[in-house]
Amino acid sequence: MHEVAIAQSILDLVNERAAGGAFTRVHAVRVAIGALSSVEPDALSFGFDAVTSGTVAQGAKLIIDRTPGRGFCMTCVTEIDVPARGVECPGCHGHQWLVVSGEELKVKDLEVD
Ligand SMILES: [Zn+2]
Repeated sequence: MHEVAIAQSILDLVNERAAGGAFTRVHAVRVAIGALSSVEPDALSFGFDAVTSGTVAQGAKLIIDRTPGRGFCMTCVTEIDVPARGVECPGCHGHQWLVVSGEELKVKDLEVD
């Protein structure tokens, strides 16, 4: 389950910021996950709860914002909205499209004390 590895890297980032003594307690972590990333939000929340146990982020809420996916259809030569990987182009019903955006996974902000 690679969500645990992702949760761990989110925690690493939180720890990095906490190391400066800027805060001692994290209430919430907001992350943005692209619709085309292969991250399962429920699994990520579960993994986050597991890895943060006993850390500065213990009990912190993981807030997940899904960002939409965009693709570029080679057949239609235009940008399209794509809700997930493997879907067909709404214009030509083909699969010849490339990812433009929607694969990102980033920490947006932290709610801390
Ligand atoms: Zn198309």
